[in-house]
Amino acid sequence: MTTRAHDDRRIVLISTGGTIASRWQGSGYAADAAGGDVLASAALPDGLSVEVVDLFNVNSSNMTTRHQLALLRTVHETLADPGVDGIVITHGTDTLEETAFLLDLHHADPRPVVLTGAQLPFGTGEGDGPSNLSDALQVAATVRDLGVLVVFDGMVHGARGTLKTQTLAVDAFSDPSAPPLGKVGFSRVDIRRAPARPAALPLPAAAYAADYAAGDLPRVDIVTHHSDADPVLFEAALAAGAQGVVLVATGAGNATPDFVAAVTRAVASGVLVAVTTRVPAGPLAALYTGGGAVDLAAAGGRLTGTLRAAQARIALLSAALATPDRAERAELVGPLLNGPESVGEASVAAPGADVVPDADTVPRADAA
Ligand code: ASP
Repeated sequence: MTTRAHDDRRIVLISTGGTIASRWQGSGYAADAAGGDVLASAALPDGLSVEVVDLFNVNSSNMTTRHQLALLRTVHETLADPGVDGIVITHGTDTLEETAFLLDLHHADPRPVVLTGAQLPFGTGEGDGPSNLSDALQVAATVRDLGVLVVFDGMVHGARGTLKTQTLAVDAFSDPSAPPLGKVGFSRVDIRRAPARPAALPLPAAAYAADYAAGDLPRVDIVTHHSDADPVLFEAALAAGAQGVVLVATGAGNATPDFVAAVTRAVASGVLVAVTTRVPAGPLAALYTGGGAVDLAAAGGRLTGTLRAAQARIALLSAALATPDRAERAELVGPLLNGPESVGEASVAAPGADVVPDADTVPRADAA
């Protein structure tokens, strides 16, 4: 564990790899830098000390449920220490939105968990990693009651709904259906709104099972509809043992009568089915019959609001990890997919938050 100290806010940095830790390997980049080296490249905001945990070092396209559960457990163990003020996780950008959402669905602590990464590799001198990490540390030392956050390119995003929306540009993350929660820069954190989050799930037993085989973890697949599609791949997911399937429909959530029949069969056998869309922004809507969202919903498919495929999959996975009981899963999954039922003004003023709902800015922790 490397430690860099300035002052009294204690942040734990959990390093998991990604481009922020990637160096040239002769034929391409791969994650290999230690968390302490990544931390050393960033300016340390005033008033905090940082302890580094090197958990693993992977490019996040190789992320598995096992990795994510190990990280979830590490986050919970880290927060068991009341002296820790917040957590920053460095993570590859490719699947960052999935890990962030999994952590958020299980996060009941007022202290923040902030994920960040980079689009440009480690040690190039002009990368975005150092400033993203410095911003993430600043946010982790400042805010409370906002759940799990993604800090990238000067923006503060809630985990729910935030996606990688740029393959290469440094403003890599956004929620296509909503503005960011706030921004960070010049040692200030400005939060404009708090995210609406459902009640947190307890830590799943699988997070503590060191000896499970890969096949013991629930399989959840994603299948995309398109013109001339049939449900063969959807059925293949069921045949492979999927306990949940996300159907990426067209438009506001439409497919075909054949898909409706397949969804009906899946739901009848206790498989969770979520219906999202391949359109980048906007909510699902039950408007069309003839294989449309009206029929998919009537068949038991859950329309996902503004949640897109990768995070809808994490919602189904989380419900499956929470309980082996198929009926309980079906009860649980609604708020995971759609958030808490009513989102009013009150959700902006999270109790005990450092965030003043009417204020434009949130001061730095050491200036508060
Ligand atoms: N391949 C990288 C990863 O997700 C991309 C990145 O971190 O930006 O690990």
